[in-house]
Amino acid sequence: MHHSCRTLRSAVPPPGVVACIGEPGFASEATLFNRNLQDERAPLAIVKPSSLSQLQAVLETARASKLRVSVRNGGHNPSGRALSKGGVTIDLGRHRAIRIVRNDASGPVAEVGAGAVWGDVYEALGGSGLYAVGGGCPMVGVAGLVMNGGIAFTSRKRGLVGDSVLSFTLVFPNGTVAETEGGRSALRSALSAGGGSTLGVVWALRLRLWPAPEGGHGVGVVRLGWKGRVPMSMLPLAAAAMDANVAATDDDEGWSLNLVVGREYVVWHHFHEGSAEESRASGSRRGVFGRLANFTRAALATGASLAVPRSWCGGGASRARQGLRRR
Ligand SMILES: Cc1cc2nc3c(=O)[nH]c(=O)nc-3n(C[C@H](O)[C@H](O)[C@H](O)COP(=O)(O)OP(=O)(O)OC[C@H]3O[C@@H](n4cnc5c(N)ncnc54)[C@H](O)[C@@H]3O)c2cc1C
Repeated sequence: MHHSCRTLRSAVPPPGVVACIGEPGFASEATLFNRNLQDERAPLAIVKPSSLSQLQAVLETARASKLRVSVRNGGHNPSGRALSKGGVTIDLGRHRAIRIVRNDASGPVAEVGAGAVWGDVYEALGGSGLYAVGGGCPMVGVAGLVMNGGIAFTSRKRGLVGDSVLSFTLVFPNGTVAETEGGRSALRSALSAGGGSTLGVVWALRLRLWPAPEGGHGVGVVRLGWKGRVPMSMLPLAAAAMDANVAATDDDEGWSLNLVVGREYVVWHHFHEGSAEESRASGSRRGVFGRLANFTRAALATGASLAVPRSWCGGGASRARQGLRRR
């Protein structure tokens, strides 16, 4: 066994160090959403601390052993930054509890352990009448998304996901713990505006929640896929639909309308923050549903296949659990 791995094991009692490279079970632990990079970025060890003091012990040992540290949350960073090649990867999956506090001084709040993914938050909010400004994919990490900007269905109305964070509990590389104070704290801004993972390890965060309108929201995700590339003839149609959607959003800020053009697919998702009746009326008035139908018809005529996934990245916990209805 590598001597740094032995040192880590003595610093973090079992089951803290889950696996070191070359050991059975390592391959199934050292995973990324982008599987192509898993081998190339393999760390020396995957560690899952279950307390703040264990996390501090990991950081101290890594520093003493001159090992690079990374944190893996949902593992969706496309360039695989969640794994620290040859170093220590900290997975906070044992610290993912969520507590909903309704009467906080700042309004309703979710206290989130930094190992949580968005599906956990939506699960916790189920039936609460509250919603969070969060990611469309339930497997993306809460901390990982927050610290890298974060675009939500509701971002047109509520801002970036990072704007919803009221405070962070951050552990600096030397083990010092800091609580960011208030919405205007410079540290809070740095953490929620892209600098996050370079400053330390986020241990917990508090998210502002919003009351869901009676009758729920309308959410729709439609994926049009082609066997090869998206035909060129679809691009001006997509651009025109996008322009019209932006205008509709400007007219009624309850709408978030997004059209994502990939190499072989176009994903359309729409979200309306209003009662079912309001969404229907506004959607018809602003041509949202007609535009979607026309775009879909044109795509099908060029050989596209249609899928209506449950969420942005498919499967897993759905927004329905958050009290958000799909049309
Ligand atoms: C299928 C898919 C769907 C997506 N959907 C959306 C979307 O709806 N909206 C959007 O804006 N983006 C979306 N993205 C982009 C994604 O949100 C970002 O890549 C995000 O940073 C991923 O977070 P993660 O926790 O899943 O990934 P990770 O790779 O685990 O983390 C991302 C970065 O944050 C660091 N980090 C994670 N947790 C901590 C912590 N506790 N302390 C310190 N550093 C930490 C990691 O080290 C890494 O550098 C999507 C990406 C994919 C692949």
